[in-house]
Amino acid sequence: MFLQGKTALITGSTSGIGLGYARALAAEGANVMINGFGDAVAIEGYVAELAAASGGKALHSGADMMKPDEIRAMVAECTDRLGAPDILINNAGIQHVAPVDEFPEDKWDAIMSIILSSAFHTTKAALPSMKAKGWGRVINTGSMHSLVASPFKSAYNAAKHGLAGFSKTVALEVATQGITVNNICPGYVWTSLVENQIPDTMKTRGLTREQVINDVLLANQPQKKFVQVEQLAALAVFLCREEASAITGTNLSVDGGWTAQ
Ligand code: NAD
Repeated sequence: MFLQGKTALITGSTSGIGLGYARALAAEGANVMINGFGDAVAIEGYVAELAAASGGKALHSGADMMKPDEIRAMVAECTDRLGAPDILINNAGIQHVAPVDEFPEDKWDAIMSIILSSAFHTTKAALPSMKAKGWGRVINTGSMHSLVASPFKSAYNAAKHGLAGFSKTVALEVATQGITVNNICPGYVWTSLVENQIPDTMKTRGLTREQVINDVLLANQPQKKFVQVEQLAALAVFLCREEASAITGTNLSVDGGWTAQ
């Protein structure tokens, strides 16, 4: 339990990858503030589970990552009730797929706010106490789309590429202060979101489950396997260890070979 006494704040962690990070950090003893939307009873259950796992405290913030005031209030609440974040994971994200000349303006703005600007606001609010302590970890959930593009995802690709540049910049600014900043770049990850779209794609394209998985979802993922949430969470935990203190300003691909092509 090497993270006992430390506090982690993870945006977009009421499901999927973010919840995986929260579980893995709590298992190492960290107090955890989770954030995101979803069913209140389920969220209450996650908070109880995380507190029990860490033996410390856990809380949920419903702050909307599109709203800078709410983001600042979330960091302040975390500081007051759990401790200033020693570990900040910027993970909230949404997707919208459309050709750029048909891309809805409101979707562009939402994606840029939730993925990119929220990371600026959380980092700005959390860094001063990390600097004061001389220790901190900022981990961003980028994507293979921080490094390469796919068509019809202009906002997502722009925001995720932006997150890579933001991570490098902050890493340089705090390089001598015991704080590392990295961008984890997953390929296609097995989450309920992915699982739920399989039956529809089978129906609309007249394909078997195996064809949807191998020829549609994993067409560009050479290993033909989804990345597992636990694999990403294990990397985040490693980044918090002293052994990882020289890893900063990097894009860390966990993508089954996607960006080797
Ligand atoms: P998910 O939909 O399960 O999780 C998204 C989380 O963000 C949820 O907790 C949701 O409530 C929260 N969220 C959405 N809008 C928000 C807002 N305005 N304010 C606060 N919280 C908000 O998806 P996931 O697959 O776990 O994705 C997590 C991150 O991983 C995202 O940044 C995504 O781009 C990235 N990613 C996912 C994959 C994949 O294949 N699933 C691949 C690469 C990168």
